[in-house]
Amino acid sequence: MRDAWATGLPPGERGDDNAAVQGGAGRCVGGALISALTAAVGVLVPVAVGAPSASAARPAATQGSGTPGAVLAYGTPFHGSMGGQALNAPIVGMAATTTGGGYWEVASDGGIFSFGTAPFAGSAGGTLQAAAPVVGMARAAAGGYWLVEGSPLAGKVVTLDPGHNGGNAAHPTIVNQLVWDGTGYETCDTTGTATDGGYPEYEFNLNVALAAAADLRAEGATVVLTRTTSTGVGPCVPVRAAIGNDAHSAAAVSIHADGGPPGGRGFAVLEPVADGINNAIVGPSATLAVDLRNEFQAVTNEPPSTYDGVDGIQPRTDLGGLNLSTVPKVLIECANMRNATDAALVVDPGWQQLAAKGIAAGITAFLTGTP
Ligand SMILES: [Zn+2]
Repeated sequence: MRDAWATGLPPGERGDDNAAVQGGAGRCVGGALISALTAAVGVLVPVAVGAPSASAARPAATQGSGTPGAVLAYGTPFHGSMGGQALNAPIVGMAATTTGGGYWEVASDGGIFSFGTAPFAGSAGGTLQAAAPVVGMARAAAGGYWLVEGSPLAGKVVTLDPGHNGGNAAHPTIVNQLVWDGTGYETCDTTGTATDGGYPEYEFNLNVALAAAADLRAEGATVVLTRTTSTGVGPCVPVRAAIGNDAHSAAAVSIHADGGPPGGRGFAVLEPVADGINNAIVGPSATLAVDLRNEFQAVTNEPPSTYDGVDGIQPRTDLGGLNLSTVPKVLIECANMRNATDAALVVDPGWQQLAAKGIAAGITAFLTGTP
């Protein structure tokens, strides 16, 4: 997705990404300031847009009043606006030149639109996209400006679903009841697996989910968890899917560890297959699977499974959590608890934190489109 300047340039807009490269420190990451200096030359072209306000007593917005990006002028000339123009990202701020002869509007993706005598000094848009939504700008006396990046996941809802629960084993009549999973019937939930030493999967899953939730919240996401303790029963798999759906999650990830053959190790990301209910999210879920696979492997150095899937990804038709999802969703088996090498990792709180970081990084890559 690109800003409006790429096509159908509004009057006064000069979306030259190179100017931003030449003009300053370029883009940084994570809450960084993007500096764009007036050293970028050849882009200052005063334009006349709209008509100066005829009256200081009432606002003048001769373009697109009542639409996003419209500028209302009070006691000062109107130099144009993005009001009524096609926008790929919302306008989030403006700043004016020292003389008041022009001003800039800034969009959340770092695009800069200049009006009147305001010089275009560079932007974070186009091929030089900001790593996070831009939330504001300020003018520099020299003629340039600063943009500030907000939280990368602000406004995004993520559902994390730590598999199983500590009370499942003691409540077989609840856990073993058959529930519709979108294509057939499966049990409400299962007990999960454990290492040979007796460390339970449900505990690993919760620890990783809580740590990943903290990481994602630090990036601005709203995180919904399907459970927050290991003392309960369930919830049933369809309920876990419904929680992610009802939250209108931008992404949902079920967190598990596998009970595979002792001779095999590694992680696998399980992705949905179209079943009617989930058709719309199979495509984005495949993208989420790739992002999660790539980031989890890079962060943890855990190898893709030697026995499940291809290159760490396995489509599955038999999992209610994926069959019933209407939001992009995958399930990750972080490691094989029945393998001695992997078992030593999953019981380690430090590795649990690492696994959480890998999951959070995968979700962030998916939600920001920056794999
Ligand atoms: Zn499991």
